[in-house]
Amino acid sequence: MDRSEFSLIGILGGTFDPVHYGHLRIAEEIVEMAGLREMRFVPAARPRLRSVPVASLQDRAEMVRLAIQGNSGFVLDEREIRRDDLSYSVDSLRELKQELGENVTLCFVTGADAFMKLAEWHRWREMFGLCHFIIAARPGHMLTMNHDAVPQELKEECAQRWASSVDSLKRATSGLIFIAPTTLLDISATIIRARVAAGKSVRYLIPDAALDYIVTNHLYSEEG
Ligand code: ATP
Repeated sequence: MDRSEFSLIGILGGTFDPVHYGHLRIAEEIVEMAGLREMRFVPAARPRLRSVPVASLQDRAEMVRLAIQGNSGFVLDEREIRRDDLSYSVDSLRELKQELGENVTLCFVTGADAFMKLAEWHRWREMFGLCHFIIAARPGHMLTMNHDAVPQELKEECAQRWASSVDSLKRATSGLIFIAPTTLLDISATIIRARVAAGKSVRYLIPDAALDYIVTNHLYSEEG
């Protein structure tokens, strides 16, 4: 098949506890930069490598739904929530590949902090056979692959995979890594939860619709 018939779809996995403008802005910029057909937000039900999320999975998904409404390029994908068990990105990617068909190229989007821990993920090497990776820089978490904290096996796996331009992603079905020069926004869900718990404002850090949902449902507060 002619590679020009392929379309690229972005997958942004996360806990989204809650979703914030850090997520939304990298998604928007990467859709534009890489010419993605859509960006799928995939909330994780029960992430294996981090503490249990504070908000319920229904609340986290609902906040994503509210936050992305009005953006026709953004889609909420609830597959990991429906599974309601340990979430493995590799399984979701395999499922998506089957559902979306051969002429779709998947691009898995992570922040630099998440990517540097990739070797801890379940069957992580298989992911390179299923998708490309697009990495967004994050304040305080610059991508430094020569750092001692990055395991040798990840360095070696990545060595031949760096894409010099975003257009390279269109010329292969999987296996490349592109570092996206996105706007640095020092926003994290941890900071938002802490500010809400302390009764401080999180306005302009997350979309109003998601903030209204937090207030109405008393999420992250002492009361909640
Ligand atoms: P927490 O503070 O609870 O750890 P988080 O803000 O990192 O949460 P997640 O839902 O865990 O949010 O993140 C999902 C993905 O988005 C991860 O790959 C993460 O690296 C990336 N990400 C989150 N916030 C940013 C940001 N401000 N800039 C770039 N990438 C981000």
